[in-house]
Amino acid sequence: MIDLRSDTVTLPTPAMREAIARAELGDDVFGEDPTVNRLEAMAAETVGKEAAMLVASGTMGNLIALLAHCPRGAKAIVGALSHSYLYEGGGASALGGVVLTPVPNTPEGELDLDALRAELELPDDPHFAEPAVVAVENTHNRCGGEAVPVAHMADVAELAHRRGLPVFLDGARIFDAALALETTPRAIAEHADTVSFCLSKGLAAPVGSLLCGSRAFIERARRIRKTLGGGMRQAGIIAAAGIVAMQTMVERLADDHRNAETLARGLAGIAGLRVQRARRRTNMVFFEVIGSAAQASRFEAALKARGVLISPRYLTVFRAVTHYGIDSADIGRAIDAARAAAAETLAA
Ligand SMILES: *Cc1c(COP(=O)(O)O)cnc(C)c1O
Repeated sequence: MIDLRSDTVTLPTPAMREAIARAELGDDVFGEDPTVNRLEAMAAETVGKEAAMLVASGTMGNLIALLAHCPRGAKAIVGALSHSYLYEGGGASALGGVVLTPVPNTPEGELDLDALRAELELPDDPHFAEPAVVAVENTHNRCGGEAVPVAHMADVAELAHRRGLPVFLDGARIFDAALALETTPRAIAEHADTVSFCLSKGLAAPVGSLLCGSRAFIERARRIRKTLGGGMRQAGIIAAAGIVAMQTMVERLADDHRNAETLARGLAGIAGLRVQRARRRTNMVFFEVIGSAAQASRFEAALKARGVLISPRYLTVFRAVTHYGIDSADIGRAIDAARAAAAETLAA
């Protein structure tokens, strides 16, 4: 199978399995797992923050960040198409009484700055929930995996900070963003007070995300992680693979970006499919089947019968993600399969 549903399907590399087997371990709830401590120091350094904390998933990292920033009844201002708003089970609301307050995203994954400004200019009036954080996402998953320019991050930070609010960056794929923007994760995270990123997507580690910020913020975050049941004891088993991921799997993301571009061009040449354009594509291709939802699911099934898996998003829109384990020959085969599946299911 050529599995293009997500970069989360990536399996650990042989070097990761080796590192897992040899990892030096301790009780991380006591702060005594040397491998976790090493990973956390690397992560903090990479994004230019004082401290970092290993968590079980990106969802847990985002949840802890919002809970740490927002008292009950406070607003987290989030993108209307953001992962934390759409795809995390409303966790911050459900568990923390946080008022998730969406502002529109542009198709390129930016926050609509006029809408953000309007939201931030609401008067200090007891009718309104008090804002406590502004959250951004980079790369922006639901907006085509676009890398969001650093200048936009700076604009958001300026508006938020002027209102006295911190900025949280969901940087699940911050290494993809840095590559596409020809900059560093640190330069992107500079415009955020706190940031999360994933080890288990394009970097191919089996488990884990990092939440990073000031020492005081991470101390608060550790208490919340424990409360959520996320204190993981000999978590060096996970961290060992994460260290290898950060050391060996970042540069190869360029292959994924090249493969995604090739896939986008290939799919764009197929009658019956429309590829969403991207200003700064990373490792994702969103495309639409021109037809009914029923035709779209027949297309998906025909593609699967030819050994290619894609991810349905909404109605007739699909997402294909390139990643470790998918090479350029696989992309060629996927395009051929899509052409055949389209001819079979979308012919007039
Ligand atoms: C995948 C993802 C997450 C959540 O990560 P999980 O490890 O799957 O919980 C958060 N934000 C974005 C933008 C993501 O793509």
